[in-house]
Amino acid sequence: MADMVLAQDVQKYYGAFHALKGINLQVSAGEVVCLIGPSGSGKSTLLRCLNQLESIDGGAIRIDGELAGYRQHGNTVRELSDAQVSRQRLASGMVFQRFNLFGHQTALQNIMEGPVVVQRRPRAQVRDEAMALLKRVGLADKHGSYPTELSGGQQQRVAIARALAMKPKLMLFDEPTSALDPELVSEVLAVMRDLAASGMTMIVVTHELGFAREVANRVVFMDHGTLIETGTPDQVLGNPEHPRTREFINAVLA
Ligand code: ADP
Repeated sequence: MADMVLAQDVQKYYGAFHALKGINLQVSAGEVVCLIGPSGSGKSTLLRCLNQLESIDGGAIRIDGELAGYRQHGNTVRELSDAQVSRQRLASGMVFQRFNLFGHQTALQNIMEGPVVVQRRPRAQVRDEAMALLKRVGLADKHGSYPTELSGGQQQRVAIARALAMKPKLMLFDEPTSALDPELVSEVLAVMRDLAASGMTMIVVTHELGFAREVANRVVFMDHGTLIETGTPDQVLGNPEHPRTREFINAVLA
């Protein structure tokens, strides 16, 4: 399988704080990778670097073979313009902990906004696709609802549909269920499970170890800005090699 994501020796500093200390991560097309680790270990930072919400201070990131943020001419690299970076960022769809829907727009309008305004695609076609996406996330009857009229789980499903409407090559999820009431978690995980089954490449930061065990092809454990351990869910969750992984998993399960 082709590399969808290739991160090589990625370094990130916030001022003097070294948040990512040489991250190497390869994700194949169609793969689902769950990223786990304690709060503050750099999981969110890594996702944000992958879709260029943050710049990196060293190393390189390639998405579907394309160098993120730079253009290479032989031995020289040049920074891309803001417009070129914006175009690259469309390759990955991101879903956040907080749903970030536009409050003054209906579910349908939220989903149509990006394809119509950013991608300038024909409205009628976008509308049909958006309705199909709403159906896919189980919310066909909610197309006219505003975010305040939807539960947290429904809002998050709209947020997923909104990201998918841009036809990304890759989906990044940053703790998509951790702001939800417990009874609403499963409906969002079900949508993500379907998406994984459809062949979407996904990187998911999550504390839902059950989801990771069931859906992930690989689980990566991160701590203090470093990838500590990576392997199948059975290896990393069931029989972790590193004491810090073991400690973390025991703490989550406790
Ligand atoms: P995680 O997602 O694993 O909880 P984060 O990537 O959010 O971790 O954060 C990693 C570390 O970087 C934390 O110590 C956090 O305080 C720090 N950090 C994150 N964002 C910023 C920022 N914008 N400025 C300064 N420090 C930050």
